[in-house]
Amino acid sequence: MRTRFERIARTILLSLLLLPAALPASSTVGPLSAQAQPLTGDVLILNYYQAGYSWTDDQTTGIREMLRTGGYRADPIVEYMDWKRAPSKENLDALYRLYRLKYARRPLAVVFVTDNAALDFALLHRKEIFPGAKIVFSGINGYTEKTLAGQKEVTGVVEDVDPTGTVDVALKLHPDAREVLVIFDGTESGQAARNSVAAKVAQYRGRVKFRFLDDALVSEIEKEVKRMSPGNLVIQGAYSRDRNGKTYNLDEVVKIIAPGSPVPIYGLWEAMCGRGIVGGSLLSGRIQGEEAARMGLRILAGEDVARIPVVVKPPMVLMFDYRQLQRFGIDSRLLPAQSIVINRPVSFYQANKQIFWFFIVVIGILCAAVAVLAVAVTARRKADKALKIEKDYIERIISIAPTMICSFADDGRVLSTNRAVLSISGYPVQALEGSSWWETFSDKSREQIDQLLYALRQGPVLNHEMTLTTNVGAKRVISWHLVTGVHEDAVGMEIIGVGSDVTERKLAEEEREQFLRELESMNKELESIVYVASHDLRSPLVNIQGFSRKLAKACQEMNALLRDDRVPGDLQSACDSIQGSIGKSLHFITSSVEKMDTLLGGLLRLSRLGRKALKHDRVDMNGLVEDVVNAMTYQLRQSGGEIEVEPLLPCLGDAVQINQVFSNLIDNAVKYCAPERRLRIGISSWMDGGQAVFRISDNGIGIPLAQQEKIWEIFHRLNPGSDVAGEGLGLTVVRRILDRSDGKVWVESEWGKGSSFFVSLPHGDR
Ligand code: ADP
Repeated sequence: MRTRFERIARTILLSLLLLPAALPASSTVGPLSAQAQPLTGDVLILNYYQAGYSWTDDQTTGIREMLRTGGYRADPIVEYMDWKRAPSKENLDALYRLYRLKYARRPLAVVFVTDNAALDFALLHRKEIFPGAKIVFSGINGYTEKTLAGQKEVTGVVEDVDPTGTVDVALKLHPDAREVLVIFDGTESGQAARNSVAAKVAQYRGRVKFRFLDDALVSEIEKEVKRMSPGNLVIQGAYSRDRNGKTYNLDEVVKIIAPGSPVPIYGLWEAMCGRGIVGGSLLSGRIQGEEAARMGLRILAGEDVARIPVVVKPPMVLMFDYRQLQRFGIDSRLLPAQSIVINRPVSFYQANKQIFWFFIVVIGILCAAVAVLAVAVTARRKADKALKIEKDYIERIISIAPTMICSFADDGRVLSTNRAVLSISGYPVQALEGSSWWETFSDKSREQIDQLLYALRQGPVLNHEMTLTTNVGAKRVISWHLVTGVHEDAVGMEIIGVGSDVTERKLAEEEREQFLRELESMNKELESIVYVASHDLRSPLVNIQGFSRKLAKACQEMNALLRDDRVPGDLQSACDSIQGSIGKSLHFITSSVEKMDTLLGGLLRLSRLGRKALKHDRVDMNGLVEDVVNAMTYQLRQSGGEIEVEPLLPCLGDAVQINQVFSNLIDNAVKYCAPERRLRIGISSWMDGGQAVFRISDNGIGIPLAQQEKIWEIFHRLNPGSDVAGEGLGLTVVRRILDRSDGKVWVESEWGKGSSFFVSLPHGDR
């Protein structure tokens, strides 16, 4: 379960985080195997002992794994001669026959043999059973040059234990030890090893006493070990079979004696470490196998065996058992460098490194996610708060807005309303919300509503007027701005409407239009009265003028008659006085009639002006003003003045009427010039809000501020008695024309300095 979980965790970890790092790591296998030559040929591993014997198993594993690492893809054949359990010549003979049967016709490339007797067997029978095969050995004790005498194409690794190394390190860790018990079995290989140990430890003679316990039974060994005085040491050598023929694994005896041993036991083989020995400089079956396999690979790759020397000093491993170090209070810091300590209790971190990092990463990711979520939640809360404030604000505005704000579903159902809707309609909210606006409150037909909905689907509808019937049956005209929206309670489209009650405005507009219509008809009536009056009053005037002249003539005739001598003098003088007053009266009558004639003429002109239809053409003001100025050349020359006309904007209007406006204004500028200075008239124009504005300025006598409104009145003249001819009608005509032409006229003037008359007319190019 745990393994599976670890695998899953590791996979996730690797895929999440270590994938980039894992890629180069995995890719290193590729080049290695790619570099290796394809290695062919059958390989046999011939073990002298049985499967399950750790020494043999270690070597076999070492050979197999190194072959695979080196690129040998086939599965080696493995044979076990099982010598420990069947140590008889018959067994060897039977094996000989069996192997000859199996391998004589099957060429083997390399035969790996483990342990002395297997090598002896192979060398003895190689021609018959392994013809042509190269032999690589491992686990060979007591190797000398004689071992391979007369043999070719044989190489391998010597099993040479390192008792000196083990004794060295043991004595270093136990400097006070005085006796070392060395245990070996009585087998051939055991005794060979024992002798090599005895030869090597001779150097310690004098310092430590070595006692060899050879070919003892395990029970005897146990007893001997238990009798050891504390502070001394035991070296466990090879023990594979007791003198009764019972076989033992390399580590088996140690397992039996170690628990009851009062002293530390050191060993010579790696297989014993972890089974009860403290440790030592250990010979490793696996390393033996690996060394042999390296040689085998070179042979398979085609290298001449003669060039591959026998490894007589095999690599050792300094290995110790943490539990035994603890048991005997040995300070692990005293161990030589490069020592391997097994069974060291691993920290939680070491034991669960991958899981630890997996969870650290997961927790890290979760923390990051929590942090992101916390930030998001805070931001969300902030946004919600801001939204709520905004919503409250909008709701308050909507609720107090004087305009009606409400929303409907497209079936007319009222979804929401503000206070203005309630107060204008007079209905309570319960009556409004939920009921159909179209059917209950509006005057629109089904067709009109469909048209409105269609228009709304295309975009907002503005200024859409609907008549609303209030709760008391009154009709209110509401001008709606309508737009579509999305409401949770609306099945289809939601319509949001902002409506203004325009009932009063509508009434006012109607009243104004009515008033304008009346005004227009009154104006027309007045104009026709003026026209008729001014026209018809002229004929009696003509009569008065005619009869006045006749009366004057009759007076002249009567005067001639009275000059007769026959008329008495006093009568003559009385008649003279009567005639004088008649003449004066006639003069008043004539001048009044003339004045009335002028006034009536003016009125007639004015009323005709109102009757004329106006054109609306584009007028070239440069040409028009030029014509006016040309027509006034005489007056201008008489006054000695000068006129400066800037390029003028075109305008829209009736050219004849506009000509009259400019003629009047320029004529006035000439007429009312100041005698003490030379007259200067300027005409210019500019644009102002779509209107062309013209200015006619002069440096004449000017108009007092108090008079500046009066000059526009009909027949109003500032100096009626002056020599300057005029009727006081020109400016009235000007204003009338501009009123009818969508234009304006106004004056800015300073008494004694001059005046500027402004005329604004629609621009000609708009
Ligand atoms: P009229 O020129 O026939 O008297 P208008 O209606 O043209 O009548 O002018 C009314 C009065 O405004 C004039 O009598 C004059 O006193 C005054 N007025 C008009 N234009 C000017 C001007 N450019 N400078 C000074 N006074 C002016």
